[in-house]
Amino acid sequence: MSKKATATVAGAGALGLSCALALADAGFEVTVCDPGPPFVNASAVAGGMVAPSFEAVLDSAAADHFDLLLAARNLWPALEARSGVRLDRTGALAAGRSAWLHELQAAFGTLGLFATEIPRRTAEDLAPGLAEDLDGVLLNREDWRLDPCAALAALRVAAAAAGVGFQATAVKGRGAADLLVLAAGAAPGLAEIAPEAAALSPIKGHILRARMADLTGVTVRGEGVYVTPADGGLAIGATMEPGVADVRPDPAKAAPLLAAGATLFPALARAAPELQAGLRAATPDGLPLVGFSQAAGVLLATGARRNGWLLAPLVAQLAAALATGRDPGRYAARLDPARFG
Ligand SMILES: Cc1cc2nc3c(=O)[nH]c(=O)nc-3n(C[C@H](O)[C@H](O)[C@H](O)COP(=O)(O)OP(=O)(O)OC[C@H]3O[C@@H](n4cnc5c(N)ncnc54)[C@H](O)[C@@H]3O)c2cc1C
Repeated sequence: MSKKATATVAGAGALGLSCALALADAGFEVTVCDPGPPFVNASAVAGGMVAPSFEAVLDSAAADHFDLLLAARNLWPALEARSGVRLDRTGALAAGRSAWLHELQAAFGTLGLFATEIPRRTAEDLAPGLAEDLDGVLLNREDWRLDPCAALAALRVAAAAAGVGFQATAVKGRGAADLLVLAAGAAPGLAEIAPEAAALSPIKGHILRARMADLTGVTVRGEGVYVTPADGGLAIGATMEPGVADVRPDPAKAAPLLAAGATLFPALARAAPELQAGLRAATPDGLPLVGFSQAAGVLLATGARRNGWLLAPLVAQLAAALATGRDPGRYAARLDPARFG
C-alpha cells in the first residue's frame, strides 16, 4: 500500500478547517496546527454573513468580484452537506432612507440582481423589532448566513471524522510534511514562510454581540452598519480599521456601533452587548492569496478580507485541486499569490 501524502494546515479558522477537510477528502493525511484556543480568531468573531450581493454593492473592494463571490456562495450547499454547517438561506434586508435604498436598487441592477421592496408587515415578520421610522425595506434572497462558532465546531467535527489530526502548536515552516497550507489569517511573520504573504495587511474589526433572542430574525443592512443573528444572539458590526494589527477591544468603539445598530432596532439602545475585535487579512485587490508559493511545498490560503466565510468553500476547492494536480478552474489566476509580484 502506498503511503499517503502528508499536509500540515497552519490555522484552524474558516479557511484552514475547510482546506483540511477538502485535503483529507482528496487523500491527504492532514494535521491542523493552531496555537490559539479553539474559536478565538477572526472566523469566530465574524458576523457569519455569506453575502455576495450586499458585499458587492456596499464594499468598493468587492465591487469587481461579484462573479467570484457568487461562485463561492454556490459551493456552500455542498460544503453544508459534507460538514453539517447549517446555512440560513432566507435572505437579507436593507432598511433605511429612500434615497439610499434607491441607490442600492440601482447598484443591484448593474449586477443583474433584484431586491424587492417589501411591505412593513413582512419586514416585521422577518426582522422582529425593526424600527418603525425607516422609509422602506428591501429584501434580497441571494445572501445567506451561518452561525460562525457553530460552523467552526461543525467543520472541526467533520474534519476529525475524516481523519484530520489537531495540534495546539504554531507553524514556523513546512517541516517534514509534503505540503504546508498557510491559512493563518493575519498572523505576523508569514512572509518568512511564504514571501507572497508580504502582500497582506491587517484590517481590525470591532463587533458587538447582544443576547436579545426576541430580536433574532434575518440579517438587516443599514447605512454603515449591519445587525445579524449569530450563534443565538445578535451581532452588530462592524468597524474597518486598516493597518491596525492588535485584537484588543477598544471600549470607545462600542457606543457608536450600538447607536448605529439602534437606528435599525431601537431596543438595542438598552442592550449591554459584549465588544469583540478580530483581524481580517487583506490584499491590495480585496481577494485572498490562494495557490502555491515560490517557497517549495507551501500553498497559501489567506487574505479573505471581509469575506472569509463566504469564500471558504472556493478556497478549499482550489487548494485541494492545486495540491492534487487537478484543474483549479477559472478563478485560480485571479487568486494567484504571485499576482502582486
Ligand atoms: C468583525 C468582523 C466581522 C466579519 N464578518 C464577516 C462575515 O459576516 N462574513 C464573512 O464571510 N467574513 C466576515 N469577516 C471576515 C472573516 O472573519 C475572515 O475573512 C475569516 O475569518 C478569515 O478566516 P481565516 O481562516 O483566514 O483566518 P482566522 O479565522 O483568523 O484563522 C487564522 C488562524 O490561524 C492561527 N494561526 C496564526 N498563526 C499561526 C501559526 N504560525 N501556525 C498555526 N496557526 C496560526 C490563528 O490562531 C487563527 O486561529 C469578518 C471579520 C471581522 C473581523
